[in-house]
Amino acid sequence: MEDALEPEKKRTRGLDTVTKIATSRPRAPALTTVAQTQGQTTAPKVPKKTGPRCSTAVATVLKNQKPGPAAPAQKPGAAAPVLGGRKPTKRPAWDLKGQLCDLNAELKCCRERTQTLDQENQQLQDQLREAQQQAKSLGAECRTLEGELARVQAQAEQGQQELGNLRARVLELEEQLGTQQGLVQELQKEQLGLQEERRGLAARLEEQERRLQASEAALSGSQAEVASLRQEATTQAALLVEQGERLHGLEMERRRLHNQLQELKGNIRVFCRVRPVLPGEPTPPPGFLLFPSGPGGPSDPPTRLSLSRSDERRGTLSGAPAPPTRHDFSFDRVFPPGSGQDEVFEEIAMLVQSALDGYPVCIFAYGQTGSGKTFTMEGGPGGDPQVEGLIPRALRHLFSVAQELGSQGWTYSFVASYVEIYNETVRDLLATGTRKGQGGECEIRRAGPGSEELTVTNARYVPVSCEKEVEALLHLAHQNRAVARTAQNERSSRSHSVFQLQISGEHAGRGLQCGAPLSLVDLAGSERLDPGLTLGPGERERLRETQAINSSLSTLGLVIMALSNKESHVPYRNSKLTYLLQNSLGGSAKMLMFVNISPLEENVSESLNSLRFASKVNQCVIGTAQANRK
Ligand code: ADP
Ligand code: MG
Repeated sequence: MEDALEPEKKRTRGLDTVTKIATSRPRAPALTTVAQTQGQTTAPKVPKKTGPRCSTAVATVLKNQKPGPAAPAQKPGAAAPVLGGRKPTKRPAWDLKGQLCDLNAELKCCRERTQTLDQENQQLQDQLREAQQQAKSLGAECRTLEGELARVQAQAEQGQQELGNLRARVLELEEQLGTQQGLVQELQKEQLGLQEERRGLAARLEEQERRLQASEAALSGSQAEVASLRQEATTQAALLVEQGERLHGLEMERRRLHNQLQELKGNIRVFCRVRPVLPGEPTPPPGFLLFPSGPGGPSDPPTRLSLSRSDERRGTLSGAPAPPTRHDFSFDRVFPPGSGQDEVFEEIAMLVQSALDGYPVCIFAYGQTGSGKTFTMEGGPGGDPQVEGLIPRALRHLFSVAQELGSQGWTYSFVASYVEIYNETVRDLLATGTRKGQGGECEIRRAGPGSEELTVTNARYVPVSCEKEVEALLHLAHQNRAVARTAQNERSSRSHSVFQLQISGEHAGRGLQCGAPLSLVDLAGSERLDPGLTLGPGERERLRETQAINSSLSTLGLVIMALSNKESHVPYRNSKLTYLLQNSLGGSAKMLMFVNISPLEENVSESLNSLRFASKVNQCVIGTAQANRK
């Protein structure tokens, strides 16, 4: 009965407890206090958990407590004077009765006190039980709370972990947010750009729409215009067909009139050309060659030539030299020494054009060696365009006229050949490769059985369409002649060079065709051998050559005469030259002969021979020309 024996102590402990409990706070803050006190080893053990019920019980105890010795119940009795407010006076030793009475009173008081204390004890025990009960329930509560605390701590830990996770997530999200913000900024920028672009496009669209509208308006205008133009085009096309018809009629008329004009000028024409005196040559005496004006005065192109010859063999009776004899000649045209190549060509351009209209044309250069035949036909040395001869000029002219006629539906093709006839043998001047220079022998044959057309076997026939190609051919011919010249001196002047151009024209629209050869012939020197010369072996060879030349030249004269006289037999076959040229000399052909004259007095005899031959030719008239039409 510890509680019963030490009530004071207990009371103190209870007071202490109560004090402690009284200072305790409501549950939640009390936890903090408990937690704090748990750490203090010196502190007395206090129930971990006190509730308001405990503090209420303890408070009840405190209310019932009475201070120390003054606690006895205020009961009226014997002891009351002793225990009352007045201090009991000590009884003398003898007063045993009194003492006994005091003791009894005291005992009674003690008993009362004990009773009270027992009651109190009982109360306290009840309280204790109650407190223990409370402690138990508090312990249970404490455990529950501890469990709860552990759960809360676990929750807190989990919360912490979650918090950590959340922080990491937040960081991640912040990072993402940063990226997203960057992206957003970029997108915003892009959006701005796109908006700008959109605005630009919208403006362009607007502009395009505006233009489209304008175009549509223009289109509808144009469509109307096209419709009217179509109408007009149909009318124009009909007109064009009509004009084409008219143009064709006019072209045919032009050809007819052109031919008539050429015929009026004569199908055989002779032009005389006197070359200038070359540097180093003796100046002829004054009046040796004269060019009297025509009936129209000096403005008329000269057609006459007068040559004076002093014949030393003829003398007067008095012995004085006979006065020079004048020889007058008249031709279709005379070119004095100063005449240029262009002036000469101008005269023959129209004649050359006849070849395009389907009339064979043949142009000869006749004269003694050194009189200017090659110069007239091919041109002077050095490739100077000023001294370009008739062949390149004629071809250039033909190409250009053919091109003009192209607009009227005519298409032309040209094939060139160039041969030389030396000592009655034909050689190709366009030979190339191994045949170059040697010029394998060629034969003149008919192009086919029953064909009028002639062809030279082994000779090259080269299609030409431009000046450059013609230039190349002339250059090749020149080279071939130069090679031959080393073998046989001056062969070129002893042979005839025949340049032929076969012209073929076609009007596909009208099914018309025309074709004719244009022949440009540089004849061999017409000089004769001096009959007084004594003939050595070399001269005999030369004589044969000369006889061949003279024979072919006189055959040419005879052929022209026979044609002029309309003889039944024309001796074409008497020489290779006339045989080759027979298609260019016949009835429908136009012929022009240049008689080239040296201005030197020493050549007077040859000049006279040439002029006489040319005069005879000039008197010839070949029948009315007919165009070669198919
Ligand atoms: P052929 O061919 O008749 O033998 P060429 O044509 O070779 O004569 O002429 C002989 C020389 O006279 C050449 O040097 C030539 O350049 C020159 N010649 C000829 N005709 C003329 C002319 N009209 N103007 C200038 N020089 C000319
Ligand atoms: Mg010559």
